[in-house]
Parts: sequence; C-alpha cells; structure tokens
Amino acid sequence: MATYGFLGLGIMGRNMAANLIKAGFDVMVWNRSPGKCTPLTDLGARQGSSPREVAAACDITFAMLADPAAAQEVFFGPEGVQKGIGGGRGYIDMSTVDDHTARSIAEAVSVCGGRFLEAPVSGTKKPAEDGTLIFLTAGNRDLYETASPALDKMGKKRLYLGDEVGQGARMKLVVNMIMGGMMAAFGEGMALAEKSGLSGEQVLDVLDAGAMANPMFRIKGGMLLQREFPASFPLKHMQKDLRLAVALGDELGQPLYCAAAVSETFKRARAAGYADQDFAAVSQVIQSNEMQH
Ligand code: NAP
Repeated sequence: MATYGFLGLGIMGRNMAANLIKAGFDVMVWNRSPGKCTPLTDLGARQGSSPREVAAACDITFAMLADPAAAQEVFFGPEGVQKGIGGGRGYIDMSTVDDHTARSIAEAVSVCGGRFLEAPVSGTKKPAEDGTLIFLTAGNRDLYETASPALDKMGKKRLYLGDEVGQGARMKLVVNMIMGGMMAAFGEGMALAEKSGLSGEQVLDVLDAGAMANPMFRIKGGMLLQREFPASFPLKHMQKDLRLAVALGDELGQPLYCAAAVSETFKRARAAGYADQDFAAVSQVIQSNEMQH
C-alpha cells in the first residue's frame, strides 16, 4: 500500500491529514510547530523530523502551507522536500500560491527525478473535516491518477486541468477573487441595511429566498449578525489571494477594478488586527468606516 506524507497541519491540513489516517492509509506528518503533529500521531500517524525525511520516506507527499513564502521554504529550505524527493516519488502541493511558485517547484521536482501535481482546494474548514473539498489540479497525470484514492478521501470532486502547472493556481485565484468580492459587497450591504434601520435577519432571509442565495451568505451572515469571527478561512489568506490575483491581472493585462478595491479593503482589515479572524471580519472595517455629514 502507498505511503503518504503530509506537510502543514494548519486549519485545513490537520483535517485533511486526519481523513487520510482514518481511511486507513499509512501517513507520516510534519509541521513547522511540531506540537500540531500530536493529534495526528494520536490517530496513528508517524511523525517526520523534516520535510526532507517525509519526502524521502513516502511514495506521495502532500503539502498544505500558508502562502508562496511557506511553500518555497518547505520545498527549497535546507531540510526541504527538494533534498528528499526523487526516484519517481510524488509531491502534491495543495497550498494556494501563484503560478510562478507552482512552476518553480514543479521544475525542481522534475530535476530531482520526482513527479509533481499542484492541487489547490476550493472549500474551507468544514469541507476539510467532512472530506468534501474540490481539488483544482494540474501537472503530472500519472501522479494525479495514483493519488486519486487519497484525494477522494479528502474531497468530493477533483478536476484535472491539464499538464501545464500554474493553471491550478490561476483557477484557485480566480475563484477566491470572486469570493473576496462577494464578501466585501455582502459586508457593505449589511452595513447599509443596519444604517437604514433594517433587520439583518430579514436581509438574510430576502437574500436566501432569491437568485443570490448561496451557502457563503448563509454561513457568514450568522457571523456578521453576532459580530464573532472564529477563523474558518483566515482573513490574512484571503488578502494574500487577492494580492496574487491582482498581480496576475497586472501580468496578463486584465483590468480588475473591483478586485483592486476589495484587495485594499482586506489590506486595511489585516492592518486593523483581523488577520487571524475569519475573512468575514472584513465587514468590521467596512462598518466602522464612518463618513462625516
Ligand atoms: P493556517 O491554518 O494558517 O496554516 C498554515 C500552515 O502553514 C501551518 O501548518 C503553518 O505552520 C505553515 N507555515 C506557515 N509558514 C510556514 C513556513 N515559513 N514554513 C513552514 N510552514 C509554514 O492555514 P490554512 O487555513 O490551513 O490554509 C492553508 C492553505 O490553504 C493556504 O494557502 C490557504 O490560502 C489555503 N486554503 C485555506 C482555506 C481555508 O478555508 N482555511 C480554504 C482553501 C484554501 P505553523 O503551524 O508552524 O504555523
């Protein structure tokens, strides 16, 4: 039976790794802060001492890391994956990064004699727990097929976007750019409703009954009404995704008027201390931005 490595046990990674272990796979985990490995070793995982050790020991190693800097450090660092990958073993990076980062890692894996797949995910903490994520993959097709039993324990749907690494990253940034825009518009709508003396619950009911109904408004609506934002998708990661999407638009000559404004709003929310709260907390800086009459 194939052995799987898992690097990065944050909000998403710890739940995804747990699903692999519960499915009976042989899993070795690693996290920068090693204490986060304990709940997984309690479930039966082995603990690796470095990304290098994990990538050398496992047939396929998954990574779920914060951002491009983290993905690069874990791969290219002194005890990184690059030092352990090879011999046809697979590396699947599921972190949300830009296409350049994905391609640089893909090329280095290939030079080392390994196989690479990018596989960013759509879905948040609950789908990670439930094993209902959506994988947006591109890269080595054989690795995609070989890893499918594991991907199917962590997700409900997987797309193979072709062998051109970077297309998974681009797809993910497009999706999150739309989501960030929806969240900012939602926050503004709820703020305007409050100033108008409308009931927030009734606004949510109206939205839910019409063509704009969606699970995100339903779930985040509760957070907005209670003004409590426990992180499911940390705001700092949405701000990173908007930054990367705006940079992609710049590179490709695609104007992104809304996304650029939304990106600035999230930047402000991050600076205002909401980085580690859920991205729905962007509504708080929108609400607090009082205008003088
Ligand atoms: P998270 O809870 O912030 O976890 C981030 C992980 O990255 C932790 O394991 C952290 O290690 C590690 N890390 C950060 N910097 C590192 C570095 N320099 N070297 C080594 N490890 C480093 O994030 P998350 O919510 O699980 O998200 C992970 C990725 O998935 C992000 O790219 C995010 O954009 C994407 N994503 C998230 C969601 C969501 O809803 N949460 C949904 C879809 C996609 P420590 O524990 O040591 O800090």
